[in-house]
Amino acid sequence: MAMAATATLSPPSVIPPAYHRIVSPTLIIPSDPLKPIPVGLLACQRDPLLRGLATTSVSCRESQSAAPPSNGREGKKKKAAPAPTAPLLEVILHDTIIFPEGGGQPSDIGILTSSDGELWDVVEAKRLGGHAVHYVRLRLEQKIDHAIQVFSPGALVGVSLGEEGYKRRLDHASMHTSQHLLSAVLENKLNLPTLAWSLTAWPTPSYVELPRGLTPEEITFMQEECNRLVFEGRSVYIEVEELHDANKVYDTPSVGIPEDYTGGVKRTVIIDGVDRNPCCGTHAPTIHNLQLFILPQTETLARSTASSVRIYFLAGPRLLAHLTSSHTFLSATAGIMSCGAPQVPERVQQVVDDRRRATKRVEDLEAELATSVADRLLSSLSDRGALVRHEHRTDDTGNALGFLSAITTRFADRVAEKAKEKPCLLVLSSSPSAQSAASTTVVLIFGSDDKKVTEVGDALKAKLNVKGGGKGARWSGKFTGVWKDGREGTVVRDILDSVEV
Ligand SMILES: [Zn+2]
Repeated sequence: MAMAATATLSPPSVIPPAYHRIVSPTLIIPSDPLKPIPVGLLACQRDPLLRGLATTSVSCRESQSAAPPSNGREGKKKKAAPAPTAPLLEVILHDTIIFPEGGGQPSDIGILTSSDGELWDVVEAKRLGGHAVHYVRLRLEQKIDHAIQVFSPGALVGVSLGEEGYKRRLDHASMHTSQHLLSAVLENKLNLPTLAWSLTAWPTPSYVELPRGLTPEEITFMQEECNRLVFEGRSVYIEVEELHDANKVYDTPSVGIPEDYTGGVKRTVIIDGVDRNPCCGTHAPTIHNLQLFILPQTETLARSTASSVRIYFLAGPRLLAHLTSSHTFLSATAGIMSCGAPQVPERVQQVVDDRRRATKRVEDLEAELATSVADRLLSSLSDRGALVRHEHRTDDTGNALGFLSAITTRFADRVAEKAKEKPCLLVLSSSPSAQSAASTTVVLIFGSDDKKVTEVGDALKAKLNVKGGGKGARWSGKFTGVWKDGREGTVVRDILDSVEV
């Protein structure tokens, strides 16, 4: 962990010349500036470290839909959506460094510069057939006619990733290349195929789906095996050739070549001595510094046909972000608990246990107090004819009504034991210690005659605007505002005086 936190993530400033290898002598990168280079040979795929490129426009039109088409992939809706009414352009360029979504890797974002120096925001890029389509969201002041004009076929266009887009590129490259490494080592060492994977949205861990879970020992073993290769600094490179029906099939675990791909190029990503995999992603030129961290918990998914298990992993900038946020959470908790980080689990457990004991004690004491209050009420009343009384409490409990109810239950028990023949009618109320216009005072009426209970309830509604209702021997309600004994209390006592018990 400490190793990963201190590791530098600076990629080489220039891509090694051996990164992109065209292995068939007849394959050439199209140079006609009015024709698009197919996906598979794009500048972002030839050099994933390139931040900017000068190229030409091939076509531009206004998009028929308000948003770029969704392929139903998850993690789609998270990006801050610009004003939904702003027009969307579909721009095809001769070449691009903005990667169109594919191979499990989400789209890049970036900026186009037209020849008049104006900047245009690329919010998404998609592969349609064999071409990359840039979706440009117009800014408020940008006009569609002007856009069509500056992106007319043959017009010069600058493409850049921008600061945000380049950060996103490094993250995607790190996570995607790490996934290839992880899947290859899972296959080679544990004979486990990768059924699916997802490059989830920053900063959550990405995952691979496997037919079964890993034991803690296997997770440690996998992590060590992968990081051994990382420390060796195995290089990553690309081989490209023409795509024929004969070489379409791969026997490696992979999403394979999409059915609708028409770019005519077969692209293979190689981790030196470890893995060969067909993929269109923008891969890091080396796994050096891509320490892989596998989260030591797994998630089992039950599907109708078979079950699979997700293994979550982190690498590159996302691993550093994870370490930073984990450390921040842990230090904050350690600060609150006034202990060192290693003592946090033990101290939190202590607090939870203390709290459980305290809650139990409060419950026991409340039960005891309810009995005591009920006894006191009964003894103060039992020498009279009827047991009629208003009792007010000040109590900051979250469940004042529950406590009043416990008192009436105990009171009913005591009446049954000791004063069977006597009629009773009680009004219990409870206010918080600090009251304001928004405070709630709960009121509970209890009596031996259901009709009298209802009568008092109706009077409280009418005279104190208490909201409530009841059934049988109990009626409960809420009073909003400041409850004063000399005011609301007097009203209650007057009501009780007027009721014949
Ligand atoms: Zn891939």
